[in-house]
Amino acid sequence: MATAADPRDLRARAEVQARELAAAGVAGVTVGWADNNGIPRSRTVPIAALPDAATTGIGVTSLFAVFDSADTITYAYEGLATPSGDIRLVAELDGLVRLAGQPALAWAPGRQVDADGEPWPYDQRSVLIRQLARLADAGLSALIGYELEFGVYRDTEDGELIPAHHGPAYSPAALTEIDGFVESVLRDFAANGLHIGQLHAEYGPAQVELSLTATDPLTAADNQLLARQTLRAAAHVHGLRLSFAPLPSTSSAGNGWHLHTSLWRDGSNLLAGGPQGPGPEGAAYIAGLLRDLPAVAAVTAPSLGSLARLRPGYFAGAYRFWGVENREAPLRYVPGSALLGADHANVELKTSDASANPYLALAALLAAGAAGVAEKLPLGPPVQTDPGTWSEADRAERGIAALPKTPSEQEAALTGNLRIAEVLGKELLGAFLAVRRSDAEAAVDRETDDVLAGLRWRY
Ligand code: GLU
Ligand code: MG
Repeated sequence: MATAADPRDLRARAEVQARELAAAGVAGVTVGWADNNGIPRSRTVPIAALPDAATTGIGVTSLFAVFDSADTITYAYEGLATPSGDIRLVAELDGLVRLAGQPALAWAPGRQVDADGEPWPYDQRSVLIRQLARLADAGLSALIGYELEFGVYRDTEDGELIPAHHGPAYSPAALTEIDGFVESVLRDFAANGLHIGQLHAEYGPAQVELSLTATDPLTAADNQLLARQTLRAAAHVHGLRLSFAPLPSTSSAGNGWHLHTSLWRDGSNLLAGGPQGPGPEGAAYIAGLLRDLPAVAAVTAPSLGSLARLRPGYFAGAYRFWGVENREAPLRYVPGSALLGADHANVELKTSDASANPYLALAALLAAGAAGVAEKLPLGPPVQTDPGTWSEADRAERGIAALPKTPSEQEAALTGNLRIAEVLGKELLGAFLAVRRSDAEAAVDRETDDVLAGLRWRY
């Protein structure tokens, strides 16, 4: 009997979808993924080729796993040290959508498999799928909500940062300056099946934030990529350019892509609790995140731009602690309330940005938290002020350290944490570290602003 995984079934389904999309005027399908720098990559094929793309896939080089943030290919990792090799990029039909802002195109997330269709150890999406299976084995599931902050600029030849809105922060006046863009975003997100929680002019010059309502983790990661594509298309028609970079320049506000998690067992939200914190299992989840935070942050905020963004006092989470509704905390517990209900409770990771591969970010996050639950880790009291304003001695007394500040501290945190290293797997970790080193080497002797300018439009 044919099953859902039967390639004939898949092909038949893709044929129907290709015919329908073609009849509606769609000419091609873009299959997207994110590399180890969080940079979206893609291949586009004519819509008639969708059945092939969804079954045997599209040929791409295996070297995307070792592209650095400037598209330099590093051969420093022994597993991918030659220019030889090809893999297949398979379009995932479950995520197929016609792009409202680019109506001649459909889009689907891609999964990378080896030339024979077997699992490929460098495929980031499979890392998350594997982690979600482990979570399910432990009787757990998660809901993930993303907040996306970005800068909106005029689209100019030289890529200079000319703000498209001028504040004030959170004001409708700022949004009026980019009214056409905001309209396109609202319409195109809805048409693409992306649910916006809210949208506002953020604190920084030219900055905008929107939140996506919570979904299962795989959908959240797929949707994060679709959201970027949808935003870019909306900006393009209005002569605007968006920077998703963690820090577009040293004088910009940082762009966090904060991750909200709630963890569920048997229909109960384990993050629910009282105004002071979650119940015991939710507390253990936060304790697990806190324990592994330096290694998790090396995946969720991995780039040179991420490190530049993590300044104390900027709500980016520079020190390792948790707090209740404390916006300076990398782990901010958001309690439920009488108004919103107990199940509104979640924990936000602020040390997260667009230079993270979303699949790897969620896999690392959930592995750390789930280990805390499995081990019933105790959680210390929350910190409700900003440790960045304390003396070094006070921080030492409370055991609050800065998160890694340099690429080598970051690498040590990741390689020194076997739990998180194992989530990525030996090969992917090797490639991931090779591109981090390649980025770091290319930045030696360069001014921070020069490095940030190089990353400004990459994500
Ligand atoms: N822009 C800040 C960041 O770098 C976050 C501000 C906020 O709390 O929304 O993450
Ligand atoms: Mg914000």
